[in-house]
Formats: sequence, structure tokens, C-alpha cells
Amino acid sequence: MGNCKSCKSCEGDCCKYIAIEIDVPETKEDFENIKWFVCHENVNVYVNEEGEWYVEFITPCEFLGENNKCKIYDKRPKICRGYNHDECTFHNGYSEKHRFKILKDVENYIGEKFGDETKN
Ligand code: SF4
Ligand code: SF4
Repeated sequence: MGNCKSCKSCEGDCCKYIAIEIDVPETKEDFENIKWFVCHENVNVYVNEEGEWYVEFITPCEFLGENNKCKIYDKRPKICRGYNHDECTFHNGYSEKHRFKILKDVENYIGEKFGDETKN
């Protein structure tokens, strides 16, 4: 990320968030955590094309320089080293099955999945 030629026109997009895979919610109770996540500023939940669920924190890495280059390139974490710019979202686009940004997004989804539970 950051220093390769293919990243030149990008503004370090992949260094500005983290995403952690979470268990697929099955029950209404499971969705309580999803609600809690998205009640926080800059925290979203999304489902990728493979049906995997992630909680996403939109926050830049503290080592992303003003020029959008990595300030610790030689000792950047393994996950950064393994990220392939040829396959990244900037160069390839990205699609998702679902994205939950606010509480209402989750309530609507619950309503569709379990019936109208939005009043609970
Ligand atoms: S999103 Fe892609 S192009 Fe942008 S910095 Fe990351 S690897 Fe490079
Ligand atoms: S350590 Fe470097 S490559 Fe990794 S996220 Fe931070 S700025 Fe990007």
C-alpha cells in the first residue's frame, strides 16, 4: 500500500479504515450488536458479495503521511504487505450485498428479515 507506482493516483484509500469480520447474525438478538456498532460515528457494518459480515471503522492509520505514503513502509504490518494493489478496490471497484450506516438501516433489515420489529 501507499508507496507503489500503482497507488499514485489514489489517496491511500486502503489506509483509512479497518474492517473486522464478525459472525453472521442469525437471530434478532444477534442484531443488537449490529445496532450498537452503527450507533457510533464512523462505524458501519457491511456484507460482502461472499456473504461475509464485517464491522468497519473509518479512521486513518496514524502512519499515513500527508503525501498518502506510508511513514513506516519498511516495517508496516503484515496485512499491509499482503494487500495487493492489483486487486484493491481502488483499481477494481467493489460491490456489497448490504451496508448499514445508521440504526434505521438495521431496523429496516430486521423488518424485512423477521417482520416489522422496528417498534421494539
Ligand atoms: S487502495 Fe489500492 S491504489 Fe489505493 S493505496 Fe491502497 S493499494 Fe494503493
Ligand atoms: S502501516 Fe502504512 S501501509 Fe499500513 S495502513 Fe498504515 S499507512 Fe497504510
